[in-house]
Amino acid sequence: MENIYDVVVIGSGPAGLSAGLYAARAKMKTLVLEKNKVGGQISTTNEVANYPGSIPNATGPSLVARMVEQVEEFGAERKKDNILEVDFSGKVKVVKGEKEEYHAKTVIIASGATPKLIGCPGEEELTGKGVSYCATCDADFFTDLEVFVVGGGDSAVEEAMYLTKFARKVTIVHRRDELRAAKSIQEKAFKNPKVEFLWNTTIKEIKGDGVVEAVVFENLVTGETTEYVADENDGTFGIFPFIGYDPLSAIYKGKVDMDRQGYIPTDDNMKTNVPGVFAAGDIRVKSLRQVVTAVADGAIAAVQAEKYIEHNFEE
Ligand code: NAP
Repeated sequence: MENIYDVVVIGSGPAGLSAGLYAARAKMKTLVLEKNKVGGQISTTNEVANYPGSIPNATGPSLVARMVEQVEEFGAERKKDNILEVDFSGKVKVVKGEKEEYHAKTVIIASGATPKLIGCPGEEELTGKGVSYCATCDADFFTDLEVFVVGGGDSAVEEAMYLTKFARKVTIVHRRDELRAAKSIQEKAFKNPKVEFLWNTTIKEIKGDGVVEAVVFENLVTGETTEYVADENDGTFGIFPFIGYDPLSAIYKGKVDMDRQGYIPTDDNMKTNVPGVFAAGDIRVKSLRQVVTAVADGAIAAVQAEKYIEHNFEE
């Protein structure tokens, strides 16, 4: 048959790059596919301080650049293509992109997830410049500054509590007048002297020239808008939206099992319910979505892909 890859990795964030690195290093014919730009969510982080061994001032893009170099050093092929459809029904899997169709003995799904955006003006431009979707990654940059957390679910309230270890004050901005978060989590937040609440409120606009400098709130009951401007001595403050995540799994619907939200369950070896198809990184059902867990998933998936090929394709 025509060109068959041992491993096709869909996605080139840390999980996909790690899978590509491990697969290519094991001398498997490996293709890593990326949609637009390499790196995934980590590319939007200005500093990666919590990845073990990362050098001081390492940026998301610099960490990704080194991962890409390693993937290429070990001989994986990389292609830019937008994957539109997959067919996992045969022994050889088919991955159809806008540009080409790829055939593979195994597929590693590492397409990730994306934080839901507020959708207001200024949000995208100021992401990584005061707007962050990852408290674990970026809390440290807001030491002694003010921070606004958007959302009322478990993530928002838990991350707000985490941010109080760094920030001077954390205000939870919620669109209703009661939290969705579990009562036990709520109680801790209500007791925390550093946490304040802005009820029935959404963010209408985020302003700043290169860094967040002001935010416009809208009270959903009165319709009133107010602008909060950064303290003169601080110059900036943080905005952390935690209004949910969307797994990028639409094309796998009906092809592998997924939960109601679209996350893909795997076993400890990253195996999905379809033999020869693995999932790694944020697209999986898991408890901690971080670079360190994504790269671990990718490595495990690649090693398991190798074992699968040994058992199913080799004499
Ligand atoms: P979530 O439970 O879906 O909560 C999202 C929050 O954002 C809600 O309060 C929602 O408001 C608000 N929201 C949604 N869209 C919005 C918008 N456009 N503008 C403003 N606010 C908006 O999401 P999550 O907190 O990320 O949690 C996801 C899942 O993980 C949940 O099942 C959660 O229980 C679980 N989780 C569990 C833990 C834990 O057990 N320790 C920790 C984290 C997450 P409304 O309330 O008005 O809908």
